[in-house]
Amino acid sequence: MKMMTKNKKRNKKIKETQHSSLIVRWVSIVSLTIMVSFLIFSMVIYSTVNQQSMKQQESVSNRVVATLNSSLVSIPKELQISNVIPALSPSTQRILNGGPTINHDSSSNSSAFSDALISSISNPDISVAVYNLHNEVVFANGEDTPKLHKFKGSSWQKVIRRNNKSTLITSQKIVSTKTGKVTGYIVVSNKMTYYNHLMNNLLHRMIIISLVAIVLFSGIAFFIVRDVVKPIKEMVGVAQKVNDDPNSDVRIKDLNRNDELEDLVKSFNKMLDRMQRYIDQQKQFVSDVSHELRTPVAVIEGHLNMLERWGKDDPEILDESIKASLQEADRMKHLIQEMLDLTRAEQIDVQYPNAYTNVNEVLSRVVDDLALVHQDFNLQLDVDDLPANTYIQMYHGHLEQILVILIDNGIKYSTDRKQINVSAGVTQNNVRIVVQDFGEGISKDDQSKIFNRFYRVDKARTREKGGNGLGLTIAQKLVESYNGKISVESVEGQGSQFKIAFPILTPQKLDKLKKIEAEKEKTEEPKKPEGIL
Ligand code: ADP
Repeated sequence: MKMMTKNKKRNKKIKETQHSSLIVRWVSIVSLTIMVSFLIFSMVIYSTVNQQSMKQQESVSNRVVATLNSSLVSIPKELQISNVIPALSPSTQRILNGGPTINHDSSSNSSAFSDALISSISNPDISVAVYNLHNEVVFANGEDTPKLHKFKGSSWQKVIRRNNKSTLITSQKIVSTKTGKVTGYIVVSNKMTYYNHLMNNLLHRMIIISLVAIVLFSGIAFFIVRDVVKPIKEMVGVAQKVNDDPNSDVRIKDLNRNDELEDLVKSFNKMLDRMQRYIDQQKQFVSDVSHELRTPVAVIEGHLNMLERWGKDDPEILDESIKASLQEADRMKHLIQEMLDLTRAEQIDVQYPNAYTNVNEVLSRVVDDLALVHQDFNLQLDVDDLPANTYIQMYHGHLEQILVILIDNGIKYSTDRKQINVSAGVTQNNVRIVVQDFGEGISKDDQSKIFNRFYRVDKARTREKGGNGLGLTIAQKLVESYNGKISVESVEGQGSQFKIAFPILTPQKLDKLKKIEAEKEKTEEPKKPEGIL
């Protein structure tokens, strides 16, 4: 047993640790996305700048090589200090030997060619070396003499990285124009100070910008996500409270943010209110039902007791008790049916959201049917003010049910004058139906109570007439479920008028509903109309 609870606790712990917060998840995703985007962006920029700058540096090195080469290709033999020096102009020699860069000697006959060489090799990044075929340096300038690497082909170029700095080495074979033979090698080393500085700077800045961007965007993402998650957390809290105590009236506070989250919170609160209403109704219903069923059950029990004691041998008591019990059983059956009707009346919007009804047709049908059943009554129908094609958004069975309740009451509570008038007409956008009787009437005080569940003006008398005090409650629930209104006007001893009103369907809305119903009929099997009479 102990082992089991331990295991359960461990499982719970594992579950809790597995449950990751939305905030952590979203912020991680945002940070990762930004990091990857920045990385790609930085790589593209870095490589583009790198390519462009490198091209520039290559062209500088190539120019020096070409200039030197053009001075040395005229030498027919293998290169030696003795033949290389004279091939270069005096000013170039001076530069190569570390002299001043600008030649003021007007007598010197330096050519434009050699001036180009001067300007190239006076660049402090450039070191030049000329090797002969025996790998001996026959010329060099600068502090570092660039080494000769073996290479195939006529020229060779490579970037060498040392101490985080790149050096561009360019080598070329010198081919004599006279003999066509290789006479030596030119090696030019380019330290590329500007390039190295530029690329290092760019790299540092990119790293710093990326880090700042990640921190900044993660912070922004954190606040945005926290803002979104907060109401969700509140909803979870409220849901848990309601789960623990279904009677709890805790709700989520209004967010005042005018977005989808506010809609969600509103719907969530509405759902809780509705659930609460159902729970309350359920409770009320159970308490009302048990109270109402107590009387008939007590009556049946009383008769059965009487039978058990004295009635078995007394045919008169036996007959009376059986009759009374059957009557009570019938009343119970009627009561249960009415309670079911009431429950259904409270859930109409779920069952018939798209139903529509022709008022004229239903009125004629109900009045004709009831006139047949109550032939001793004069049932009048006046629909002169009601256009034939007046439609309301309602399931026809429910309009029939309301009319039956009202006409039945008129008949039940009638006195000498056995007449019921049913009339209908149109006012503004509503259809109004009036059921008038000339019976006992209802006092002002009772008029406000008769729509309450199980309310009867005179309990004993109503019981005699088979009333349970549910008819008007059902009628009111049905009317209000379809956005209608029900009211009563009555004078005691003279009679009552029950008025109901419903919004008329516009032709456009009617067409829409007809289409929806037609679609539904295609996909579903047609429902059988419920019997109401
Ligand atoms: P019931 O099934 O008992 O008739 P209702 O809810 O229909 O229940 O009516 C509630 C009470 O209102 C009735 O018990 C009756 O006293 C009174 N009442 C209803 N309709 C009329 C009417 N047309 N004339 C007089 N009293 C009425």
